[in-house]
Amino acid sequence: MPLVQHGPRDKPRVALTFDADLTALMRKRLVSGKVKSYYNEKLIDELRAMHVPATLFLTGMWMEQYPDVTRQLAADPLFELGTHTYDHRGFTKHCYTLGTVPRADMLSDVRRAVVLLDRLDPHPTRWFRFPGGCYDGTALHELAPAGVTAVGLDVPGADGFAKGPEPIVKQVLSNVRNGSIVVLHMHGGDNAPYTAEAIGPIVKTLRARGYQLVTITELMRG
Ligand SMILES: [Zn+2]
Repeated sequence: MPLVQHGPRDKPRVALTFDADLTALMRKRLVSGKVKSYYNEKLIDELRAMHVPATLFLTGMWMEQYPDVTRQLAADPLFELGTHTYDHRGFTKHCYTLGTVPRADMLSDVRRAVVLLDRLDPHPTRWFRFPGGCYDGTALHELAPAGVTAVGLDVPGADGFAKGPEPIVKQVLSNVRNGSIVVLHMHGGDNAPYTAEAIGPIVKTLRARGYQLVTITELMRG
């Protein structure tokens, strides 16, 4: 399957991307009331207020949990939507604590998310992101028929389990350059609690440095 890690390095453009994880364990925490929401609405409001185009990678389980939100995001011209597998399991044997999708199930897992996206988004993209950024030759081979392009990153935003907004802002601003793809998260809750607080300073500083913020589609258009 095709794979992109960053855009052209000769133009001052940066793509901010936001993943919406939802695992079986996270859904349990949601159902039990331990976590109120895995939709960081405050973050999306910030992006809208600052008119920031962004690419959002949604897990199938997240789309099932938030179908109306998914439709609203799809209808917003600022955003484009891609997929992030069905339930955020890993595509290599050892991908943090995410577990592993058996080789025989890889293609159907990704297709399941694509079908959900197609149902909710009238103009879905075929951008795809591996959970935890984990993949190998086997995964790329198995997923070739899925018709999706894997979108990697060159700037991990480090907002997962951050203790405050400052480390996120610093991490992004000190690593970003022409053509960068920045990964942050839009599920909020206990897993990414400070992304909304970090995004304002990140966007303002990037724009002050002369970067244009674009979607992955615009970035790769060259
Ligand atoms: Zn993820």
